Amino acid sequence: MDKKTAIITGGGSGIGFACVEKFISENYQVVIIDYAVNGIDQKLSDANIPSSEVHIHQANVADFNELESIFNLLPDLRATALINCAGISPSTKPLHDYDVEEWKRCVDINLNGSFYASKLFAKQFIKNKLKEGSVINISSIMGKRGTPGHAVYSATKHAVLGLTKSMAQDYASMNLRVNAIGPGVIETPMTSSFLKDDAFQKFFLSKIPMQRAGKASEIANTAYFLCSSEASYLTGAYIPVDGGFLAV
Ligand code: NAP
Repeated sequence: MDKKTAIITGGGSGIGFACVEKFISENYQVVIIDYAVNGIDQKLSDANIPSSEVHIHQANVADFNELESIFNLLPDLRATALINCAGISPSTKPLHDYDVEEWKRCVDINLNGSFYASKLFAKQFIKNKLKEGSVINISSIMGKRGTPGHAVYSATKHAVLGLTKSMAQDYASMNLRVNAIGPGVIETPMTSSFLKDDAFQKFFLSKIPMQRAGKASEIANTAYFLCSSEASYLTGAYIPVDGGFLAV
């Protein structure tokens, strides 16, 4: 099989789906792991992506056993790229208003889900004796800054950077590179309601030097670059893709 394989969690929507489109356009086959698989066939057909290039698996990334049973089906694909994109953003509220279960759910999905998929991917990478590979963790600008009302999201996105930097060192000698992308405000289903809100536009978009939200394809292009041989000496890095937000 001469096509490379990329595994993309959260590949059914937003940034994850844009990664599916980009990697397919670069001659990969893709494995999508997502909660929300209904409607993906239609999206693929609308994007002119042949269903034979995409393996779709429904799973909750916060459930290690579910993920493990999917990874057990994948070794023959010899995947060289993993993009940990599945994530949630709980509603805005001060810390004392979080209930404990809501906090744990966000940690389970945004942080533990990336750990589980990375662990399973790395084991398979080693077992398959692959010569090069790449893991991309999707963090956020909130992985570098605190934001009022977003304690758990920000905490998980900071934690993803710790995961990235340590994993990068665990696997550097095997040429398995691990990097994080920090998207700014990107137009996806996750942000569609904020982006329609005038107060949010005033508060947030005015702080972005490029004065616009980003597109999911702009994150996907960066993910593809990081997985490519053009980024062969790049590991343990955080790449902001945020219209200059963190430069201010
Ligand atoms: P999105 O359109 O909501 O896509 C996220 C996908 O992940 C959805 O298909 C979602 O399914 C899936 N998902 C959520 N929880 C899951 C779970 N437990 N198991 C499996 N799949 C799950 O959001 P997005 O904006 O593309 O976000 C993708 C990533 O980028 C997230 O990690 C997010 O934190 C990060 N990010 C986004 C922005 C932004 O501005 N959009 C900025 C910085 C970082 P459901 O629809 O069923 O929940």
